[in-house]
Amino acid sequence: MTRIYLDHAATTPARPEAVAAMLPLLRESSFNPSSIHAEGRAARAALDRARHAVARVLGAKAREIVFTASGTESVGLALVGAARAAANRGRHVVTTVAEHRAVLRAMDVLESDGWAITRLPVDSAGLIDVDAFSAALRPDTTVASVMLANNELGSIAPIAALAAVARRAGVVFHSDAVQAPGLLALDVTALGVDLLSISAHKFYGPKGAGALYVRSGTPVAAQIVGGSQEFGLRAGTENLAGIAGLAVALELAQAERAANVVRLAALRDRLEAGITAAIPEVRLNGAGAARLANVSSIAFAGVSAATLLVRLDLEGIAASAGSACAAGSLEPSHVVEALGLPAHYRRGVLRFSLGHSNAGGETERVIAILPQLVAEVRGAAAVV
Ligand code: PLP
Repeated sequence: MTRIYLDHAATTPARPEAVAAMLPLLRESSFNPSSIHAEGRAARAALDRARHAVARVLGAKAREIVFTASGTESVGLALVGAARAAANRGRHVVTTVAEHRAVLRAMDVLESDGWAITRLPVDSAGLIDVDAFSAALRPDTTVASVMLANNELGSIAPIAALAAVARRAGVVFHSDAVQAPGLLALDVTALGVDLLSISAHKFYGPKGAGALYVRSGTPVAAQIVGGSQEFGLRAGTENLAGIAGLAVALELAQAERAANVVRLAALRDRLEAGITAAIPEVRLNGAGAARLANVSSIAFAGVSAATLLVRLDLEGIAASAGSACAAGSLEPSHVVEALGLPAHYRRGVLRFSLGHSNAGGETERVIAILPQLVAEVRGAAAVV
């Protein structure tokens, strides 16, 4: 049975161009960019090329790109680093309840270190209101963080408007843009952000490579200390192959973005139309909001998402219940909890996330078999 992978928001396979850029740097050209010999200088040149490429895509300066080992690390450096660097100005940070755990856990760390955290509630699309954000900023607020696109719902936040509010208030603004490459424009000037996080494995680059954009003049305290790599903001010998793979994958993701979005949106719309037409008592989460082209979050009344996922898996279909990190737990994810769904929908939220590997036949197969699976899961639930 050919498997159908509908979990691209969890991770994507590294594309051939990224792997091709990485292989020499893992094999014959695997040197330390900090070494002063010719081999080291060649490694440094490769690192610089990748940094310039990422900067070009983001509309940033090369000096503003810091490579990290993951999206999570990028987020942690941004939030804990910016808050600590501004500790003498104030200790209040603003975020939302619908962020990825990378953000929420960094906030918990700050909170236990004495910071006050405002976690703004979200609407039924997982989004906050610009006015509510503005009202939450206080004289002692130093940092704010709002994700560009929600990983469970695909909803897109009005980052430029939020960042403008933060800027007027003198608050450093971070956005977790991990889900955005290949799907949204990423110009940091247009977005108006001071800090922006990305992660290569979400856009067909390798796992274990991320980056943080740090607008010039934004104070950030290093969280991993040691050598002077990455402008002193992230010590440790660089994962040069991973960084090169990230850069190639990002360039291609943004170059192919327009065509990708058109193709995926058509597939997603067909998937959603097929499912809602064939299955009673389903809800599209965030349907009214601006959304990523590739994510469908669908709540099935009277269904356990975990059970339905197993049934789909047995049929060769890989999907997810909200975020991957929450999968395996029977509780609705924190994002689903925040949406205010009626009780009988809350445990039945599935996320389908489309990507390069999907073609129309695959969505048709899902549409063809899902009604029966949902009916069976509902029937079994009614018996117990
Ligand atoms: N932020 C968002 C929105 C994500 O979806 C993810 C990945 O699950 C992360 C951060 C963390 O990225 P990484 O897996 O590279 O640590």
